[in-house]
Amino acid sequence: MLRDAIRSLAEAKIAPFAAAVDEEARFPQEALDALTAADLHAVHVPEEYGGTGADALATVIVIEEVARVCASSSLIPAVNKLGSLPVILSGSEDLKKKYMTPLAKGDGMFSYCLSEPDAGSDAAGMKTKAVRDGDFWVLNGVKRWITNAGVSEYYTVMAVTDPTKRSKGISAFVVEKSDEGVSFGAPEKKLGIKGSPTREVYLDNVRIPADRMIGEEGTGFATAMKTLDHTRITIAAQALGIAQGALDYAKGYAQERKQFGKPIADFQGIQFMLADMAMKIEAARQLTYAAAAKSERGDSDLTFAGAAAKCFASDVAMEVTTDAVQILGGYGYTRDYPVERMMRDAKITQIYEGTNQVQRIVMARNLP
Ligand SMILES: Cc1cc2nc3c(=O)[nH]c(=O)nc-3n(C[C@H](O)[C@H](O)[C@H](O)COP(=O)(O)OP(=O)(O)OC[C@H]3O[C@@H](n4cnc5c(N)ncnc54)[C@H](O)[C@@H]3O)c2cc1C
Repeated sequence: MLRDAIRSLAEAKIAPFAAAVDEEARFPQEALDALTAADLHAVHVPEEYGGTGADALATVIVIEEVARVCASSSLIPAVNKLGSLPVILSGSEDLKKKYMTPLAKGDGMFSYCLSEPDAGSDAAGMKTKAVRDGDFWVLNGVKRWITNAGVSEYYTVMAVTDPTKRSKGISAFVVEKSDEGVSFGAPEKKLGIKGSPTREVYLDNVRIPADRMIGEEGTGFATAMKTLDHTRITIAAQALGIAQGALDYAKGYAQERKQFGKPIADFQGIQFMLADMAMKIEAARQLTYAAAAKSERGDSDLTFAGAAAKCFASDVAMEVTTDAVQILGGYGYTRDYPVERMMRDAKITQIYEGTNQVQRIVMARNLP
């Protein structure tokens, strides 16, 4: 029922704008409005904070169905979870009440600020600093590649509070867009997910009350990594949705397009491609849903499962979207058809929330 509801909403209110959002590289406001009106913009927020309390699998299905029509728009529910999960996992009750309530209401989105210009895969090498000053912390630094930066009201920011301790000297904070000293860089000019704003976040003597720290001092990096264990599954869901969208389009096209006097779907060469695409998607879906169940239960092998789902589903998305372009022939290579956008959008799923090389490192360190 959830899938049917979100699919109808996505097809009616998000799909019609997907091409324009990509072409104009503009924020998908129509998607945000539609998702917020249907309470689907941040489904993971627990009911006690006014949220819908969707479990990890339901959240995955929402993201998958939105990504099937518009990958950029699927980053609304996905990044709201990524940005706010550190608070849900490790924040004080006051912090949860203060920030989850407006998120659930649709009054402000959440972003996640871990990466920096010189600290990507090696996130613990970050330089952003937070220095204690009485009842305040003062933050200085640059966060890079921040999804929905400038649009979000709230930012989970990881910063060094003790430079002698590397990852154990990193703490997490909630920073608000309106805090003095917060500003944003120009939107990055990207290959895909052009509707999702990616910008630098500048922290220039940002003075925030001490109770905005998420959890204990020195636990920020652990919280950031624990968050990714859960949210990599949402990127797997995004990849899955993009791939399904490409398969659905290619299948329909193959039935319509005629060459040599018959639909190209009648050629075994095309049929085998479609069969392989569907097989890989189904395998990715099973891995993703199983990982979502592990996320919900907090299973001990979640780290492996989340990395495996993200890595596998994103590789499948890249393969399937590339094959979809192939099935459309020359038409697939143009912006008149959605599969070239899907192929460009798929690529990011192999890069963010840890590149697929990093996922393999994570899996190797956590072999079942
Ligand atoms: C569109 C977009 C949105 C993003 N959104 C966010 C966000 O909201 N919040 C956030 O914090 N970050 C975000 N990121 C950052 C993203 O997570 C990083 O780009 C990613 O982790 C890789 O870091 P890097 O770009 O610095 O690459 P690098 O770490 O410099 O990696 C370069 C290459 O080296 C490889 N590599 C690095 N180390 C190893 C190793 N040990 N073994 C093998 N290979 C290795 C990588 O796999 C990659 O192929 C986003 C990025 C993009 C492009």
